[in-house]
Amino acid sequence: MTEPTIYELSSPGRVGVKFPMPDVPLMDMPQELLREELPLPELAEVDVVRHFTALSRMNYSVDSDMYPLGSCTMKYNPKINEETARLPGFANTHPLQPENTIQGNLALMYDLQESLKEISGFKGVCLEPAAGAQGELVGVMMIRAYHRAHGEDQRIKMLIPDSAHGTNPASSAMSGFEVVPVPSDAKGNVDLTALKAICDNSVAGLMLTNPNTLGLFDENVLEVIRIVHEAGGLVYGDGANLNALLGIARPGDLGFDVMHFNLHKTFSTPHGGGGPGSGPVGAAAKLIDFLPNPIVDIIEEATDQMPPLFGFVRPKHSIGRVKAFYGQFGMMVRALTYIRMHGADGLRNIAEYAVLNANYLLAKIKGAYSLPYDRVCMHEFVVEGCWADAPEVHALDVAKRLMDYKFHPPTNYFPLIVHEALMIEPTETESKQTLDRFADALLAIAREAHEQPELLHSAPHDTPVSRMDELKAAKDLVLCCWFSEEKE
Ligand SMILES: *Cc1c(COP(=O)(O)O)cnc(C)c1O
Repeated sequence: MTEPTIYELSSPGRVGVKFPMPDVPLMDMPQELLREELPLPELAEVDVVRHFTALSRMNYSVDSDMYPLGSCTMKYNPKINEETARLPGFANTHPLQPENTIQGNLALMYDLQESLKEISGFKGVCLEPAAGAQGELVGVMMIRAYHRAHGEDQRIKMLIPDSAHGTNPASSAMSGFEVVPVPSDAKGNVDLTALKAICDNSVAGLMLTNPNTLGLFDENVLEVIRIVHEAGGLVYGDGANLNALLGIARPGDLGFDVMHFNLHKTFSTPHGGGGPGSGPVGAAAKLIDFLPNPIVDIIEEATDQMPPLFGFVRPKHSIGRVKAFYGQFGMMVRALTYIRMHGADGLRNIAEYAVLNANYLLAKIKGAYSLPYDRVCMHEFVVEGCWADAPEVHALDVAKRLMDYKFHPPTNYFPLIVHEALMIEPTETESKQTLDRFADALLAIAREAHEQPELLHSAPHDTPVSRMDELKAAKDLVLCCWFSEEKE
């Protein structure tokens, strides 16, 4: 018996749809639109449904089980977000519609800007950037524009702690800054002595991920910010992941000058395959005039008879437009829904549960996995996926074996300052039962690493594809099998 395949299902002459007779004259299809090398599959409706259902079952998502991908904040995406985003007034507007016909949409954007200002303590917010990394690029461009406006063109260095997210040095380098790494101290905080030694009038700023990628809150954050400010630099906060801070601490109050938010992490809009992302940027008073264009503002205050009139405005020294139109509007609807569904107390609750869940999980596995910085963690933590008495086993083996236990692997080999890193973020939306199941899987794998290491080396065992040759995938990239076969 041959295995049923999920591809190559086409059978000549089979049809899945019957089009009604057109009410216009019949025409032949233009020949140049019909390409022989791209034959359309011929299938019945039920075959198409089964094909896509089979594919979807091979996928892993937050809707299938826990997704502990550290730094990525794979929290549940509430379904009510989808309902509001699909309301016809939001879903059917066109980005080129005149402002007086989209007052509801502008009111929503204004409301979201105000909510993010309140949550973060910043004076201004621009919703335009389409991802966290784009928000970072915007932030460092604003820092550069600020120094130029103050005649300080010699500030060419961006300081990046070695516990920062990888996008921070990339964004700095992309906007032309010289990236200068700052080491961490033995507790996982920024090394203050090293920082002081680097700070001079060539420093444009510092980008701080706090909590950092070790999942630790920098205990000296106020001192770090003071040192950089004293040297005339500005401080960028990487706020992709505000899950530990919501309702508890506000980066604007701590002294950060500019920061991005990831709506697709903290504020529950879908990401991964379900994107797109959205990375609004918040700025302190001295930087608001440099925010991208446009921002939504009240053009005419409300009167007894009329609601306020909203419109787009351009900040005085704006670095300009950074994306077509106004950003990812559908994500703004979802994020504001999330914020409104929770309210102030609910948002604080999210942070408390995110931190509690991470610490609960850490406490359960701490005896079996070594913890390089033994402190209370924030929304995530990093352990080592290796053992001195099981030298053949690596973090990658642990990650792959978790798939046999039906869990998505955690982020691995990041941050770079931890040997064989496994970076785990459970998020606030997992129940105690799920956290226990996940901890049990990790504990079982730690035992297997010592008793049956071959089980880990050959994992995963029952996934649609087994372990990939990651080196070959990078060195011998094949993006389209059809055409490359033809060429050979
Ligand atoms: C995810 C993340 C980013 C980048 O965000 P993208 O939307 O993926 O570009 C930056 N910093 C931190 C700390 C992150 O977790």
